[in-house]
Amino acid sequence: MTKPSDTKPIDRPVPRAGVLDIAAYVPGKSKATGGTKLYKLSSNETPLGPSPKAIEAYRAAADNLEFYPDGSASALRAAIAEAHGIKAERIICGAGSDEILNLIAHAYIGPGDEAIYTQHGFLVYPIAIRASGGIPVVAPEKDFTTYVDAIIDRVSEKTRVVFVANPNNPTGTYVPFSEIRRLHAALPPRVLLVLDAAYAEYVRRNDYESGIELVGQSSNVVMARTFSKIHGLAALRIGWMYGPPEVVDALNRIRGPFNVSAPAIAAGAAALSDRAHVESAVAHNEEWLPRVTYALEGLGLQVTPSVANFVLIHFPGTKGKTAAEADDYLLSHGIVLRRVASYGLPDALRMTIGTAEANEATIAALRHFMHGAG
Ligand SMILES: *Cc1c(COP(=O)(O)O)cnc(C)c1O
Repeated sequence: MTKPSDTKPIDRPVPRAGVLDIAAYVPGKSKATGGTKLYKLSSNETPLGPSPKAIEAYRAAADNLEFYPDGSASALRAAIAEAHGIKAERIICGAGSDEILNLIAHAYIGPGDEAIYTQHGFLVYPIAIRASGGIPVVAPEKDFTTYVDAIIDRVSEKTRVVFVANPNNPTGTYVPFSEIRRLHAALPPRVLLVLDAAYAEYVRRNDYESGIELVGQSSNVVMARTFSKIHGLAALRIGWMYGPPEVVDALNRIRGPFNVSAPAIAAGAAALSDRAHVESAVAHNEEWLPRVTYALEGLGLQVTPSVANFVLIHFPGTKGKTAAEADDYLLSHGIVLRRVASYGLPDALRMTIGTAEANEATIAALRHFMHGAG
């Protein structure tokens, strides 16, 4: 790359400050190098697929593709409002919650502003912060878990937004809602607290809340959600945010006028109507999350306790037993996990809870990797 110099004018368009500091997001792999069957456990997708009702609604939408979608996604917002007992006017939908997170950054972070996220937090946050010209400020975690005091310590005059994924990806850990309330209480009212609850449906803990109540009570808290995970609609790109009217209004001003497609609106609303499908997904995870964790620990691997639909597996890191070597070995057997070195976790892999067959295959392959044929 050529460096802009003072003497020679630059003869091509140059992105504004910050853009070229961004390391582009690298999604989980979707191909293996060997094996007869592919087990894709790299992107926290559901092994159950979407509700048949959602697929049907998606197909029906194919009959009317010449028409623009409803720009305010009314049917989808109404379905979300009903399912969660909240007001439709306080909901905005987006092309995945990735878009929502980016809209928040663009509306609330300007050049030189700071935004805080946690050490192993979701990588979309620093990308969105930098894309807005902002400065990402990293708060250390404790035991791979959000550490509220570290966030509070890093709030400055320049802080505009705090991003917290609860539960977090790729660690799978969560903080009790009392901690989120403590964080909120410590933030100046001008700081926007973004609660990213992409995995909320999977969490089975009495002290967990996704944040709906706190959003309802505050003027500086929003909650982001997605249809990509438990609803199995990642391909359609549907996310949403619940927030104060002023924040929803700001994002509505800068979003694309038709940012959610008609098939996505239809499929999302249908997915919400199928409670039984969501419950099956939760039940499958409740069965396999502890089984996978226990089996991997039995192989001598450390597994960070997860409340979501994936586990973070820590490898010994010694020669022959690194995460990269484990990944290569699994890929040669058709098993695709997620490398997480870019999250500051070079010795770990993230494994999505898959079908019974995929889980068993992964455990068997890792047994082989760790202990050989025996
Ligand atoms: C998967 C995920 C999202 C959302 O993804 P979209 O597909 O863009 O809706 C958001 N936050 C976290 C922490 C995630 O893991």
